[in-house]
Amino acid sequence: MRKMWISSRQVAGNKLPLKALDPATEEVIGEFAWGGLKEADEAVIAAKEAFTSWRRTPASERAAMLHEVARKMRANLDELAVELTLETGRSIRKNRGYVEWSAQCFDYYAELGRHYRGRLIPSPESSQLSIILKVPIGVVAAIVPWNYPLLLLTWKLAPALAAGNTVVIKPATNTSWVTLGLAQYFEHFPPGVINILTGSGGEVGDYLVTHPDVRMIAFTGSTEVGQHIMRQAANDMKHIHLELGGKDPLIVCADADLNAAAHAAIWGGFLNAGQVCTSIERVYVEEEAYSELLDSIVQLTRNLVIGPGMNPESEVTPMIRPGEREKVDDQVRMASASGANILTGGRVPPNLQKGFFYEPTVLSEVREDMLVMQEETFGPVLPVVSVKNFAEAMSRSNSSKYGLGATLFTSDARKVKYYMETIEAGNVWVNDPLIDNLAGPFGGMKRSGIGRELGMEGLEEFLETKHVHWEIEGGKKNWWYPWE
Ligand code: NAD
Repeated sequence: MRKMWISSRQVAGNKLPLKALDPATEEVIGEFAWGGLKEADEAVIAAKEAFTSWRRTPASERAAMLHEVARKMRANLDELAVELTLETGRSIRKNRGYVEWSAQCFDYYAELGRHYRGRLIPSPESSQLSIILKVPIGVVAAIVPWNYPLLLLTWKLAPALAAGNTVVIKPATNTSWVTLGLAQYFEHFPPGVINILTGSGGEVGDYLVTHPDVRMIAFTGSTEVGQHIMRQAANDMKHIHLELGGKDPLIVCADADLNAAAHAAIWGGFLNAGQVCTSIERVYVEEEAYSELLDSIVQLTRNLVIGPGMNPESEVTPMIRPGEREKVDDQVRMASASGANILTGGRVPPNLQKGFFYEPTVLSEVREDMLVMQEETFGPVLPVVSVKNFAEAMSRSNSSKYGLGATLFTSDARKVKYYMETIEAGNVWVNDPLIDNLAGPFGGMKRSGIGRELGMEGLEEFLETKHVHWEIEGGKKNWWYPWE
């Protein structure tokens, strides 16, 4: 059984352990300790105590410890990738890449944390110094979802530690087993700097969010839970960083490379079975290109290899749980009942009844008021819509309450300029969807979140800013009338 990791100790907890499942086979892959309020309290106390010295640890020493995490992850790359695939169902090929990318993220913030500094600004008088100081915030609760349990954790953990904060990690239930296995990569940190606490969101998650000693909530997950956290965190005015759901549009103009756009649509729509926050969930195509693009998308979709993530050839892997699959199927059924055409997919693959697979699905004849066009689907479903022109595509894209990512395919630079300035999304891709960059900030607008991960902005989130005014020569004689 995998235990919790609190103050560098293995903690079993008082509750019965839970079982970890492989979504491709429905088999039990291991057991993990399940925490409650007692363990949550221990984790916060440990992180609070560790903060006193961690914040004063020289940035170069912190950097060395972060580099060491990267080194250990690379040394265990295959083993970690297999574990990620077993618990998330995701492709082993992709997971190898994500372990390497996570290691790069630790290296990146190790160095950024060493170089980042405040600044000196002009003072009113020559005897004074005005200093902008950047200081760590304190105990950070890093609450993460199941779809990218390592990567999305790393995007929080690496900058939070580099900035001098201590962290309590709260993984999702579905990926607690693999997250508890990460303790081996953190053994060289002082006790309490990193803690891994399992437990239900409603119990230990809520407890962390309302605990007075937790000064920041760095959360990735659904908009609904993000809204709840924002309300809860208001009492103590905690720092919040929210990476939430999306309904990302892809616009394909008639002047685009349609073959590339079709490949991009199925990759962006069906990667990780559509369980990516920046999955393409709506496709708007200029009417001259509509039938050609739709035909290509349907053909390419029918040729995709559906199968378990452990098979390196699998392109569409299982969904995480039957409940998530039902939610997706409900949206497809409702759309179909209201007039949408299911051109391919829309069912459990007949040859894959075991595991939580769902066929990649392409819909046409969808209307903007259907749930599948309004709410996040988070599954392998692509509604493809014909629009009169680019202006209509823009207006429909921006009509969503979400604003996470958005992609444009065109060869017209004027459209690109207009698009990048006016599309309501934090992550904007042109002719190449879903590409992230460690140095480029990632995050959402509107109901897709607040704040940015990655890049300089991703470190800034974990720092508090102070303005220090210092009269070096001992102060004025008269504060009431400083001009005298
Ligand atoms: P979720 O919101 O159900 O859970 C996310 C985490 O929050 C889990 O660890 C859960 O235990 C915890 N939680 C639940 N209730 C809580 C509460 N009351 N207080 C504190 N914590 C609580 O999301 P999920 O189903 O795990 O993940 C899928 C969602 O995540 C999708 O909506 C997806 O778009 C979103 N997501 C967003 C991004 C992004 O970067 N914007 C990335 C990945 C996933």
